[in-house]
Amino acid sequence: MKLICIGRNYTSHINELKNEKPKDPVVFLKPDSSVLLKNNPFIIPSFSNDVHHEVEVLIKIKKVGKHIQSKFAHKYYDDIGLGIDFTARDVQHQLKSAGLPWEKAKGFDGAAVIGERWMSKTEFQDVNAINFRLEKNKATVQSGSTSEMLWKIDELIAYVSQYFTLKIGDIIFTGTPSGVGQVKEGDVLEGFIEDSSIFSIQVK
Ligand code: ZN
Repeated sequence: MKLICIGRNYTSHINELKNEKPKDPVVFLKPDSSVLLKNNPFIIPSFSNDVHHEVEVLIKIKKVGKHIQSKFAHKYYDDIGLGIDFTARDVQHQLKSAGLPWEKAKGFDGAAVIGERWMSKTEFQDVNAINFRLEKNKATVQSGSTSEMLWKIDELIAYVSQYFTLKIGDIIFTGTPSGVGQVKEGDVLEGFIEDSSIFSIQVK
């Protein structure tokens, strides 16, 4: 199973990190070992002093495909979820400024939260208008709608499948809206799609 992640897919987040708006989606992978195991807390790694939460809508692939056209992309997924792309921002800044790959900042153990609960796309009137949010210690810190994505779900599937064969169970992290921020020991992070709680994790 692979985790395909999209960076800079929401204008609001591009602006807060003062990044340039990309011409094409920014794509990176996280290894399967980065998945935070069920019921485990997230442990801040010792090599970072600035780990950020990035809440993201997840798409679970249900059918093998490559070079998928956008108009057929909807046939490749049913389940929509929510997760966190934990990012060691200090490490990422060092790697970025040296022109190096980001894996150490985003692929470490526990860096991928995949909410236990999945929702069927049939539960939504429009997958391009799903509201989601992240609460930290019961206060909303990030909120967004898939309508704000620069590249919509079907376009992302089409784009990434030009490079990677999509396999059953692969998960696409579709990018984060604004409001990313540092996590501290003792924080509780709870993610919601519309009013449904999708995950709750503790930070240690
Ligand atoms: Zn992200």
